[in-house]
Amino acid sequence: MDDATYMMEAIRQANKAKAMNEVPIGAIIVHDENVIAAGYNVRETSQTTLSHAELIAIKKANQAIGSWRLEDCTLYVTLEPCPMCAGAILQSRIGRVVYGAPDPKAGCAGTLMNLLDDKRFNHQAAVTSGVLEAECSGLLTDFFRELRGNKKK
Ligand SMILES: [Zn+2]
Repeated sequence: MDDATYMMEAIRQANKAKAMNEVPIGAIIVHDENVIAAGYNVRETSQTTLSHAELIAIKKANQAIGSWRLEDCTLYVTLEPCPMCAGAILQSRIGRVVYGAPDPKAGCAGTLMNLLDDKRFNHQAAVTSGVLEAECSGLLTDFFRELRGNKKK
């Protein structure tokens, strides 16, 4: 399957977050062309700082593979990873990251900085950005527009 097809699955995860009134961000992890883990943002529901989509997916992938190392895995996420998630990507040795929308406020995979491609660290991840960008960013802009609309009512 190609990147766009896998990103559609990450978008499906983001929609699960949206259904819970969470900021719609979704992630999946692919190994040997199989989706081995998925996650979506549940920060409000869980009231846990660590409950970003990527971290949930990484934890599930660790369990699925039985290892903290995810070297041969690709992570697909609808929004560019923040510094916390980029750090977890390095720690888990994920080989490749594909994201949809850039994040001008927190993006650490190329926008504000690129933690995933700094040779001073002991691991680098290949990054592909802008896959289904319009769909991924549209999810977020629609969500925040609706949120503002509800506040006015
Ligand atoms: Zn994050």
